[in-house]
Amino acid sequence: MPKNLYDVLGVPRTAADKEIRSAYRKLARKYHPDVTPNDRAAEARFKEITAAFEVLSDDDKRKKYDKYGDRWEQADQIEEMQRRGGGFGRAPGNGYTFEQGAGFGDFGSIFDNLFRRERGGPRSQPASRRGQDVETPVEVSLEEAFRGTTRVVRLQSPEPCGTCGGSGDVAGATCHACGGIGQLTKDRRLEVKVPAGVKTGSRVRIANEGRPGVGGGSSGDLYLVVTVQAHPRFERKGDDLYADVTVPYVDAVLGGEVEVPTVEGRVALRVPELTQNGRQVRLAGKGMPVLGGSARGDLYARIRVQLPERLTDEERKHFEALRDLARVKTAQTS
Ligand SMILES: [Zn+2]
Repeated sequence: MPKNLYDVLGVPRTAADKEIRSAYRKLARKYHPDVTPNDRAAEARFKEITAAFEVLSDDDKRKKYDKYGDRWEQADQIEEMQRRGGGFGRAPGNGYTFEQGAGFGDFGSIFDNLFRRERGGPRSQPASRRGQDVETPVEVSLEEAFRGTTRVVRLQSPEPCGTCGGSGDVAGATCHACGGIGQLTKDRRLEVKVPAGVKTGSRVRIANEGRPGVGGGSSGDLYLVVTVQAHPRFERKGDDLYADVTVPYVDAVLGGEVEVPTVEGRVALRVPELTQNGRQVRLAGKGMPVLGGSARGDLYARIRVQLPERLTDEERKHFEALRDLARVKTAQTS
């Protein structure tokens, strides 16, 4: 049985991120192979604490670990299976082992990231690694998707601790402000552009605004994952829009002009004689802009012929006359 990762670091399950980093730092100082050369037990212990730290210092991994324990790496698969309604047996590779997780190079770079400022020497050039990508959801209205818009995204990014100047120590003692890590998490507000034409599910990439890289590696990217809100008047299919247009029965029969709503305002539409209910009229280029291009989708006006809700005596007479005409017509053609 692998040990509980919190026990490995000697912290409670409720430990704050800062406590976890501080605990790891203390243990890593004690067991690092550079400090204890040729000590197999210390090396094994170092691997163990580093693997535990790698999971517990990462919000996403820690959440999965809290929920699924040693099977945290299969969290996505387990949840996928639960979504499909099936049960799950023993997930493949039934637990987190240190061999299976981070390789030596991997936690070497975590260690270097924490300690490199004070260590110097040949190990001060860690293997560089690109930072993780970050996704953040944004919701926009159809009008905003039509014109393009901006959103302010709140990001958390590490910056050097001002109290200790990034060294992690103040006068030989662990810096109280950063817990000895040399970095603090800072909230940042970033204004990002949501381009015209985005759809639900569109991913807008903002280069280099993800997690910072390790050992000089480049930052990851930030992705906005877009949801476009439903609109009361327009239905969207790809880049085309559909809108219901009410046409009074007389205009449907004799032809006439009606107003069609578009995202940019109303336009006039000439309705030909004998327009049938349910007919779709295409207004070319009046749909949504095509993402990343200059083309536009189309707008389809769905004709809804409106019957009268009451009749005057005179109108009734005319309809009765029309009915008589229709009967004559039917008799002639049969
Ligand atoms: Zn500090």
